[in-house]
Amino acid sequence: MKNSLKFSELGEEFYSIVQPIKLEKSHLVHVNECLKDSLKINLSDKELLSLCSGEEKFGTTKPLSTIYAGHQFGYFVPQLGDGRSCLIGEANGYELSLKGAGTTPYSRGADGLAVLRSSIREYLCSIAMVGLDIPTTEALAIVGSDTDVIREYVESAAVVTRVAQSHIRFGHFELFASRSQHAEVKKLADFVIENYYPQLKGEDSYLSLFKTVVRSTAIMIARWQAQGFSHGVMNSDNMSILGLTIDYGPFGFMEKYNPSFVCNHSDHQARYSFERQPTVALWNLQRLADALSSLIDKEKLTKALEEYQEFLVKEYTGLMCRKFGLAEVTKGDSDLINDFLQLLYSRGQDYSRSMRSLSLQGVNNLGDAFDVWFERYQIRLASETSSADERALMMNSVNPKFIFRNYLAEVAIRKAEDLYQYDEIDTLFNLLKNPFDEHPGFESYTNEAPDWAKNLSVSCSS
Ligand code: AMP
Ligand code: MG
Repeated sequence: MKNSLKFSELGEEFYSIVQPIKLEKSHLVHVNECLKDSLKINLSDKELLSLCSGEEKFGTTKPLSTIYAGHQFGYFVPQLGDGRSCLIGEANGYELSLKGAGTTPYSRGADGLAVLRSSIREYLCSIAMVGLDIPTTEALAIVGSDTDVIREYVESAAVVTRVAQSHIRFGHFELFASRSQHAEVKKLADFVIENYYPQLKGEDSYLSLFKTVVRSTAIMIARWQAQGFSHGVMNSDNMSILGLTIDYGPFGFMEKYNPSFVCNHSDHQARYSFERQPTVALWNLQRLADALSSLIDKEKLTKALEEYQEFLVKEYTGLMCRKFGLAEVTKGDSDLINDFLQLLYSRGQDYSRSMRSLSLQGVNNLGDAFDVWFERYQIRLASETSSADERALMMNSVNPKFIFRNYLAEVAIRKAEDLYQYDEIDTLFNLLKNPFDEHPGFESYTNEAPDWAKNLSVSCSS
């Protein structure tokens, strides 16, 4: 196991050394064994608990919290930073970050803690994203505790260990650019290229880096849109330089199809609604472009930004075609797809369930209103060369049977909070990790929200 942290090489203007808080009666709630194996972490549960609660250091590595800035809900905040998280080390080339491990110099008066509720949501959602093949930080473990945390009511503190090659955000660049610290902007860009994109070294490496970020961001967003994921807080400090989904808070998977879906109940202006995500990501990329303007010619940045739309549409269209069982797009396909989505919207149908049911050949299980559309669809399918079985296989590998519905999270959270029982977390972990598989016996987990959960609200409080 490697003990050093590459990030620390950047120098102390990029971070502060921190000391994680000691939680009362800390215990492992769940461990992502597969990830643990792939990181080559050979530790007993007891040793893993010590590491993931922040009690034991990772070899000689000192935990550190990084400093960044960011545009939050459209407004620039000159200084943010890891207010409740710290990097504790690296395993097999991946950074381990503890979220909820106590205050840091960037906590801005807040308590540095995370509640069990939001930690379970982050943990399971990151697994769901891996299952859906959406780039993301991935959680390794949840540690629960008896330490009280005050939110709307008293809850218990927990720590999620999340893993990524890098947790660098657009906001890291914005901080130094806003202070006209051009040498630090360059140092950070060099660091990202050297460690994560060595193939970009050479002439025009900064422009190549920016183009890579534009592309990976577009691909991430296209996959969010295709799978109905809404992040909820797309501030530029929550945008990863590697194009990973990061900082799970009031996220939500769209259940009833509705493009103006807003998952974050604190987002009164609907700035981060589902349908605005592609535009907001581009806006954030523009902020990154501003931050890199000391390294890259403005015209070249503008040109690179123009490629965003193309990457996004290509990835999204490819995914939607597979969802509908079409080998490639032909004239009229986007109308066919959009008309189906419009029908889902007007009939208040569940997005993922409806998409999954499309592969049940000839079965019109969406009601009479879909008859005309299904006829058009059958005519279109007749021009495909694939067999119905081949098509069903393709469709079922991109239309998930299981998505992380809020009410499923709520059941797991209540059981964990009230009864200290974590079996529901394990069940969801296994379903969401392989969401395209049938999982016989778990049909009820594909159900729409029951009445008691219809008005569950998710806010920024976490
Ligand atoms: P988020 O939108 O959750 O990514 O958080 C925005 C900023 O607030 C980040 O700098 C976080 O580190 C910080 N933050 C959020 N919650 C807390 C907390 N309970 N204690 C300290 N800092 C926090
Ligand atoms: Mg954040």
